[in-house]
This record gives sequence, structure tokens and C-alpha cells, in this order.
Amino acid sequence: MDEKNKIFLTRQEALRAIRLDFEQYGAQPRLFTELCRPILGGRALVQKGGNHAGVWVKHRHKNKMRRIRDDALGEYLLRALNENSYPVSVLAEICSKVFETKAYSGKQSKTGCDGIWIETGEESLNCRQCGSCCINLIYHKDCTEKDYNRWIAMGRFDILERVKLVQYGSKIIGYRIWFNPKTGRLFSKCPWLKKDDSKNHYSCTIHDVKPEICRQYPLTGKHAEMTGCGMLTDTS
Ligand code: SF4
Repeated sequence: MDEKNKIFLTRQEALRAIRLDFEQYGAQPRLFTELCRPILGGRALVQKGGNHAGVWVKHRHKNKMRRIRDDALGEYLLRALNENSYPVSVLAEICSKVFETKAYSGKQSKTGCDGIWIETGEESLNCRQCGSCCINLIYHKDCTEKDYNRWIAMGRFDILERVKLVQYGSKIIGYRIWFNPKTGRLFSKCPWLKKDDSKNHYSCTIHDVKPEICRQYPLTGKHAEMTGCGMLTDTS
């Protein structure tokens, strides 16, 4: 498969992406129950019906089982993921379930580092330029140092003047987008988004140099679905 339709995550990046998914989409009962086997193994018992329905987990040092509340299951699984060192093949299986796409263990071609390849399914998504992501998603905190340095190297001062640096003393600790230099406040709507009324389409006026977060959207079909992406909902 073409490397442009898949992304590579190191073990740490995969754990962070799983945490983000859990935090972003809240309780996902079916998924969390499915993850009990690869994450908790024989310690967990999933009881499907009756008075004892739910996920039961064996105490580490006792032979007793305790029920994990549905609203606490996500955090319980994340804790287990961070406390144990799973083989990358198991992490790949977990990623596949979480991101609802193919994922497998492998090496990054550039560094030879072990990790997980995630297929984004991007080739089957077709952007309809509905503008939904640019209008509805909040990217203020997602500009990176790499984006900022790229714009410096290109001399894109029109973009740079719309990035607010967050500093701790003399150290830059964050980059906020998009900042209105006239009002001194963040724009509520992305200033680079333009609507073509004749076609009812939106476009990005900095498409070729836009931030990484915008380039990567949507990461997977699940991400598109969970964030109301028009690629999946607009059939026009
Ligand atoms: S920079 Fe471009 S892609 Fe990113 S939110 Fe703005 S208009 Fe959309």
C-alpha cells in the first residue's frame, strides 16, 4: 500500500492516539468491551445479561472479581495500557479496533524504528468541500513548532502574523491559531476559509502550506464519521 495512505505511530504515539480517541468521543461501550480481551486477557470476564451484566476483573492479588462501572471502563483500560508493555502486534490489534481500520506492526522505513502502521482509508474518502471541518472543529491549540518553522522558512509573514506565541519566560511553549492582529483576539472562524457561492463550495486559501492538523484531517473513516465530515454524510 502507498505510504501516503497510511501513517506510522511509535508505541508512545499509539498510546497517545488511543487516549485522545477515548477522551474525544467519550464512553464507547461496544468498543471498550471488545478491548477487554487484548488488554486485560484472562483477568477480565464480560457478562452479557442478567443481574451481573458488565465487565468483571480479577483483583491482582486476590481471587475475587470486581465489576468495573461502565463510565470507568475507558480509564481502567487506559491505565492497564500504560502500566504494561504490550508487544507491538497486540498494540496494532488494539489500534485496529479503536480506529476501525487496518493496523499492523512494522518498521518505519526512514528510521527502522518498530511501531504500528495505520491505514487511513483516505483513498476511499472524497472531499466534497463542504467546509464542515474548517467551520466546526476547533484547531486553536494544534499548530506545531514544525508548522511555524516551515512558514518562517517560506517567508510567509501573512500566516506568521496570525499565529500567537505562548511563552513561559523566554521559552515558547505553544502556538495558537488564528490570531487577529487587528483585534488582538483569536478569530472565531478560520480566516483562510473562502466560500464560492456559485458552487456552494468552500476552499482553503493556504491549501498548499496549511497546518499539519488540517492536512491530516480526517485521520480515519471513524474520525470523519465522529466529527460529522461531509465526505460521509453529503451524497450530493
Ligand atoms: S487553514 Fe485551511 S484547512 Fe485549515 S481550518 Fe483553515 S481553511 Fe480549513
